[in-house]
Amino acid sequence: MSRDWTLDAPCRGRDGFTPSEDDWSTTADLKRLCGPQLAVCGPCPFHAVCIATVKPAQARFDGVAGGRLWCNGEVVDALDDVFEDELTEPKLRASCGTEAGAKDHRRHGERVCPSCAQAEREMSARRKAAKARQPQQLQLDFATT
Ligand code: SF4
Ligand SMILES: [Zn+2]
Repeated sequence: MSRDWTLDAPCRGRDGFTPSEDDWSTTADLKRLCGPQLAVCGPCPFHAVCIATVKPAQARFDGVAGGRLWCNGEVVDALDDVFEDELTEPKLRASCGTEAGAKDHRRHGERVCPSCAQAEREMSARRKAAKARQPQQLQLDFATT
């Protein structure tokens, strides 16, 4: 039988990963109470299994799990160096295939689906192209005044 991974988790025996119901009411309270515990997740090798076990989105979890801070099952803060593939499979939504769809996936603490990722890349490329055209346009406008 394989060893229980929670025995080796850095948070084992530590408090403050989930707030007491009476101690908070806003996301800011949650960040203040649990945010400092995020650093404990930094060296933890169990981000993915932690998220798969806690199921933050389904459980509407409040607290720290998998290197992210969750509020009502949505990611409200995260360590800088977390990987998207640690998150659960994306759900298909009406917003899929758009930038807003990608935001919805992130809000629900899941990976971004391929069509939303594609939409994000395309919109980002369009914005870059539009930005690159701007100085020339300004020069043209200036020349005509
Ligand atoms: S990722 Fe999960 S198991 Fe690892 S330290 Fe954070 S809360 Fe604990
Ligand atoms: Zn999608």
